[in-house]
Amino acid sequence: MRKMIIAGNWKMNKTPREALALIEELKPLVKNDDVDVVFCTPYVSLVLAVEATKDSNIEIGAQNMYYEEKGAYTGEIAPNMLTEIGVKYVVLGHSERREYFGETNEIVNKKVLKAIEHGLIPIICCGETLEQREQGITVDLIRTQIKVALKDVAKEDAKNVVLAYEPIWAIGTGKTATSQQAEEVCAAIRQVVKEVYDEEVANAVRIQYGGSVNAGNAKELFAMEDIDGGLVGGASLKADFGKVVNYK
Ligand code: PEP
Repeated sequence: MRKMIIAGNWKMNKTPREALALIEELKPLVKNDDVDVVFCTPYVSLVLAVEATKDSNIEIGAQNMYYEEKGAYTGEIAPNMLTEIGVKYVVLGHSERREYFGETNEIVNKKVLKAIEHGLIPIICCGETLEQREQGITVDLIRTQIKVALKDVAKEDAKNVVLAYEPIWAIGTGKTATSQQAEEVCAAIRQVVKEVYDEEVANAVRIQYGGSVNAGNAKELFAMEDIDGGLVGGASLKADFGKVVNYK
């Protein structure tokens, strides 16, 4: 049995003061022993967020990191900077990073390997544009994204990564994939993990759906066989997130 994992991707929202207020508001609402709950805040709020969630079931994640240990990389954040302050997860390869900051599958792979080396759990995002979906190349594209992202990741480590299927046309648009559409791709992701590793890894790896998840659609999406939770943007910034986490 895979434990559900529901992560809030706060993106570039909330100042540290606002972040603390939101954490205090959400803390009692997101209690659920059956779900791993993760808040991915902006970098400048991570220290505060780790401290503020110590007495709760919430773990903290970053939204990105660099793949070098240290050095002349102005503006970047190294993995040990995250682990030292108690960050457990890191979102990698979000479509917004791919689109606005030029992240390729190869860059995502380097980040995945470095995150694992430091004991961070990567939440690896993949997904297609509407145009790609209409061309019928969704599954091929996602298979490539996953294969490249996991290149050289050892079997024991692969079991612990989180994969997030996020159709780009559903992110922040209010347009959700139907539960069937989401399940079809999440099942294809599990299949590619099985091909690259084996059934044991495929059964262990957790696959999230992301794209306009909210209190109204979480139950149906999370009931699908290959969907083990969600990566949630907009709805993670409000009390609604409590309902998403307690979707049952
Ligand atoms: C996201 O940013 O990963 C996301 C899925 O956003 P939203 O829930 O707002 O569509």
